Amino acid sequence: MSEERHIHPIVRPMEGVAGRTSEWRTARPELFDYNCIKCMQCVLHCPDDCFTINEDGIPVIEQTYCKGCMICASVCPVDTIIEIPTLPGGEIDAIDPKSVAPEPKKKRK
Ligand code: SF4
Ligand code: SF4
Repeated sequence: MSEERHIHPIVRPMEGVAGRTSEWRTARPELFDYNCIKCMQCVLHCPDDCFTINEDGIPVIEQTYCKGCMICASVCPVDTIIEIPTLPGGEIDAIDPKSVAPEPKKKRK
């Protein structure tokens, strides 16, 4: 019998003493889920606990409390988290994320 494992965050994304940390970032991460292998490295390394997990087991970034450090992108083994520059104020993209979307990787059969 196989055992399915789940990772649950110790805390949920929430407003801290710095408020909406998204307001002072200069870039944000975009997670292109079609290449995600569900390794959870991004979840485990985020210093702000910005991730939740959706019903398909894919991490989802809570952008309101993301400070744009891009640690999640640097630890992703399949490079499917891409840095998107933001306009002053941190919450509006400076480029269209689709313009830098990674190529879909072939899944192993
Ligand atoms: S950019 Fe930093 S704060 Fe934002 S989700 Fe990634 S690791 Fe967390
Ligand atoms: S590090 Fe990359 S592959 Fe692993 S769960 Fe996060 S987005 Fe998916």
